[in-house]
Amino acid sequence: MAQQVPGLAESREEVAAELDRRLAEIADPEERLAEIGRRAPGPIGFSTSLGLEDQAILHAIAAAGARIGVFTLDTGRLFPETVETIERSEQRYGLRIRVVAPEAAEVEALVARDGVMGFRLAIEARKACCEVRKVRPLKRALAGAGSWITGLRRGQSAGRGSVPFAAWDPEHGLVKINPIADWPLDRLQAYIVANDVPVNPLHARGFPSIGCQPCTRAIRPGEDARAGRWWWESEDGKECGLHANPRRPVREATVREAAE
Ligand code: SF4
Repeated sequence: MAQQVPGLAESREEVAAELDRRLAEIADPEERLAEIGRRAPGPIGFSTSLGLEDQAILHAIAAAGARIGVFTLDTGRLFPETVETIERSEQRYGLRIRVVAPEAAEVEALVARDGVMGFRLAIEARKACCEVRKVRPLKRALAGAGSWITGLRRGQSAGRGSVPFAAWDPEHGLVKINPIADWPLDRLQAYIVANDVPVNPLHARGFPSIGCQPCTRAIRPGEDARAGRWWWESEDGKECGLHANPRRPVREATVREAAE
């Protein structure tokens, strides 16, 4: 937990900005995670999708011995390979990854209204599914947290091109931290190989970005890394609602309530 000296209390935005500056001065990922463990407001939660970025961060957390809670969102529509990667990661690093599920009643109401594949029919239905299966469980998982670590990188997509190392997140009321925001893909891959980090086997089958099974396909040579996510939609709306970029104006999403 960040200490505040009476009379010299920093605002939460200043705490985030200072952490952003500190992380920019540190090159080593394990030192970055150790610094986050020391300076970020606690409790600190790390949300992992078991993708390459998150696996690299998990390795750095374990190597640094940082006291950071690790959790993942089980939407109920994950690839079996992703679930197996959870287990292999737990065994490799000797820790338990908290698995956060959506509320059963909300999923039942959503499926009763839109059908089991309703997210393919309209962008509003897709966002409603992500809301019930991801956004609300994330909010529950982060309730009471002071900081949230994610694997966002600037190179992942045009919409993530200005992602900071750390910034105040007004939506979730905490400091959002992206420890490898500045890493290009080749830096990430080199770290994974050098440390023999366990990875989802789907990466080797053409899936650079892995989400829910029915909403992710393998990409073709030359396609953008996130082209396989919600591939039937235009590029504009391709976020699940978990990550709004505070430095980029976002179009207000219309999300229908699943449970009426
Ligand atoms: S990625 Fe697809 S299946 Fe997963 S929560 Fe979003 S719409 Fe639903």
